[in-house]
Amino acid sequence: STPGRDTTLAELPIRDDLRGKSPYGAPQLPVSVVLNTNENPHPPSQALVDDIAEAVRDCAGALHRYPDRDAVALRTDLADYLGEITGVELTYQNLWAANGSNEILQQVLQAFGGPGRSALGFTPSYSMHPIISDGTQTTWLDAKRAADFSLDVEYALGEITARAPDVVFVTSPNNPTGGSITIDDLRRVLEAAPGIVIVDEAYGEFSDQPSAVTLIDEYPAKLIVSRTMSKAFAFAGGRLGYLAAAPAMIDALQLVRLPYHLSVLTQAAARVALRHSTETLAGVAAIVAERRRVVAALTGMGYDVVPSDANFILFGDFADAPASWQHYLDHGVLIRDVGIAHRLRATIGLPAENDVFLDVSRNLAATDR
Ligand code: PMP
Repeated sequence: STPGRDTTLAELPIRDDLRGKSPYGAPQLPVSVVLNTNENPHPPSQALVDDIAEAVRDCAGALHRYPDRDAVALRTDLADYLGEITGVELTYQNLWAANGSNEILQQVLQAFGGPGRSALGFTPSYSMHPIISDGTQTTWLDAKRAADFSLDVEYALGEITARAPDVVFVTSPNNPTGGSITIDDLRRVLEAAPGIVIVDEAYGEFSDQPSAVTLIDEYPAKLIVSRTMSKAFAFAGGRLGYLAAAPAMIDALQLVRLPYHLSVLTQAAARVALRHSTETLAGVAAIVAERRRVVAALTGMGYDVVPSDANFILFGDFADAPASWQHYLDHGVLIRDVGIAHRLRATIGLPAENDVFLDVSRNLAATDR
């Protein structure tokens, strides 16, 4: 017996604007080939596992104390890492970290959105952007991507100018479609935006495009670049997201962040993972090579694949995408129905997993997809 289980959500005095909404959630199912949440399929090396275990042992004796509230050592390591891959000199004062980039985005909207304010994004894009807007009572303004899922910049500038959002989301590479925005186009968006522009670069390491970090010095009062260790860094379970921005932006986030939000264990493990970045990024190169192979194979089968510089692909056409999604699942492959008609999204996995995915795709192409 579960105390209180006869009371339903509808009976609770929840905020009116949350009534009838659904929580975010991709199915977590026990299948052999999991290609639905854009994780890095390479597990941590034994050396990384051993180093994390040692770091946790070293700090376990101090768990009666709160962590460094400002996570300065971790932010310094993140600044070194991001500086190295983007070629932009950064210090810890440019970096902020939280439990996944979802928490980063939430903190940004708590500080710069909220009641009476608005956030605009170009859909289809990452579905948490409107959900975090709802949760912070920021009015969501929906704008669209072009029919080929690229960002039509002339249209985007028109929407930004006409609707004057407090916050603009640009996802690059975009989830679930895979393409990136160029730095020139991003500069035009920054010029037009009256408030904050969040560039969500969760998949940045998979892309050849330069990072928006290169524009921080030009737009210090507007630009926030959000990133994560969940994807390229193979650290989704560790929960570590971060942002790069001008130091004053981080002063703003300090006003809304919960004190001690990053545990001692999280900070220690993330620092170890950053020390192993060379080996992790070699895995990223392997994933990009696999993406090319998978795209070529699917195209050869007659599928239409949206150009991607991330670790996933959006592909079709399917007469009935939900039915095809089920067909993959029935054959042990979990991919994602993101709600775009006639298309599905698949994460690039290990070579053997991709082979299974391609076998099912071939089989579907031959029948009635
Ligand atoms: N941004 C984008 C575009 C994503 O796809 C994701 C994960 N699906 C996130 C942010 C959040 O990831 P995390 O909280 O694990 O950093």
